[in-house]
Amino acid sequence: MESAEIRRRWLSFFEERGHTVVPSASLIADDPTLLLVNAGMVPFKPYFLGEVKPPFDRAVSVQKCVRTPDIEEVGKTTRHGTFFQMCGNFSFGDYFKEGASKLAWELLTSSVADGGYGLDPQRLWITVYEDDDEAERIWRDVVGVPAERIQRLGKAENFWSMGVPGPCGPCSEVNYDRGPEFGVEGGPAVNDERYVEIWNLVFMQYERGEGTGKEDYPILGDLPAKNIDTGLGLERLAMILQDVPNMYETDTLRVVIDKATELTGVRYGAARDSDVSLRVIADHLRTSVMMIADGVTPGNEGRGYVLRRIMRRAIRNLRILGSQEPVVGTLVDVVIETMGKQYPEIITDRRRIETVALAEEAAFLKTLKSGTNILDTAVTETKAQGGSVLSGDQAFLLHDTWGFPIDLTLEMAAEQGLSVDEGGFRRLMQEQRDRAKADALAKKTGHADLSAYRQVADAAGATEFTGYLHTEGEAT
Ligand code: ATP
Ligand code: MG
Ligand code: MG
Ligand code: MG
Repeated sequence: MESAEIRRRWLSFFEERGHTVVPSASLIADDPTLLLVNAGMVPFKPYFLGEVKPPFDRAVSVQKCVRTPDIEEVGKTTRHGTFFQMCGNFSFGDYFKEGASKLAWELLTSSVADGGYGLDPQRLWITVYEDDDEAERIWRDVVGVPAERIQRLGKAENFWSMGVPGPCGPCSEVNYDRGPEFGVEGGPAVNDERYVEIWNLVFMQYERGEGTGKEDYPILGDLPAKNIDTGLGLERLAMILQDVPNMYETDTLRVVIDKATELTGVRYGAARDSDVSLRVIADHLRTSVMMIADGVTPGNEGRGYVLRRIMRRAIRNLRILGSQEPVVGTLVDVVIETMGKQYPEIITDRRRIETVALAEEAAFLKTLKSGTNILDTAVTETKAQGGSVLSGDQAFLLHDTWGFPIDLTLEMAAEQGLSVDEGGFRRLMQEQRDRAKADALAKKTGHADLSAYRQVADAAGATEFTGYLHTEGEAT
């Protein structure tokens, strides 16, 4: 079943059951706490927080999501992309645990002929929150899942909150057993590659108070109206329905891998490292296209830096596979063609997306050319002195003069067996920021040159983004 069909079935199943179809919001979150939309519920936050009365009791969507914290997993696990599509159904004070569980089961297990996804019910495993007897009872006695395929998980896994006072509650997840070729048995509590998580059902039933950490807050009581928020990963379901071993080989990504193979001459399946690179290239370029389409342009701060980092990582991996020429244009075209089936606006906007991508590739190839020489010299010097750590000074110089993001320096140094004095680098960045502040202050009193301050502030901006990447409340 193609991704476009999975999406179509999702929307029509819930629409037929009284849900209003809500189109995906832009990846650019209308939310000061988030750089990019990372879950299907984000556009509905004001309803869940009680700030706005929802115009419907039930809604369904397929939401574009970006999760930069998952970047290191890409290509290494079988199931994490930086971009993915979260299929969600939502109830605002309408159906609750029983309704949500029954709907999920019906859609997953009813036959393809009947509009479902036709999954074998014996391969489905359920997790519930450790205290949630009600959810366990529903799965077992109402839905009919055998008790031995229901497992309990703790707060880190199966309890959700938005990271701020407001609604929170237990989760319950549906997992699919991909069989012994993916590892040992024992259910999702034991092996999350074999028993892959596909669908998270969040039962918003309590109100939480202030707290600092993810788990450290009081539960104040029951919510007056209970809500349902669910999220199913479209790519993960596609991986199962298309019977491929990982999400990068599903229809919308495999074509990008194939094109990259053609361009680099490196065969997919030849070696683990080059396979990971090919998957990273496909994932990251798809993410880049989707971000550019929603109006993000590469830059040194915020979303612009997220995009820059993702694009540059893709280009670096192309270089690792031996590609010296600009090839991003060709790959971006493939992404536009395949994703255009679900998002026609990226076809309309094709020229602009290509122009932005090509400009970033050109800028980065130039940076790489000059910076790589400097880095190689630094590595040779460090090794000649018997050292194994690149100094903070060198990392700072690469950043400040050659535009090398620290992540790139870390990765490239690691490839040559060196680590980097990151603490030293950060100290120098901080000193630079402090100087910039002092200059700005002086400027207020009329003594400093504004253009110099701007340059410094722009360069410093590049490291300031990290805080935003790790926002809380990521579960659905
Ligand atoms: P995992 O534990 O596998 O990292 P998660 O618990 O972080 O997933 P949720 O926040 O519960 O994921 O999101 C709901 C659903 O979205 C997941 O069940 C999964 O199907 C999908 N999903 C989450 N992260 C990704 C990702 N990086 N790439 C593809 N699909 C994802
Ligand atoms: Mg996760
Ligand atoms: Mg999980
Ligand atoms: Mg989850």
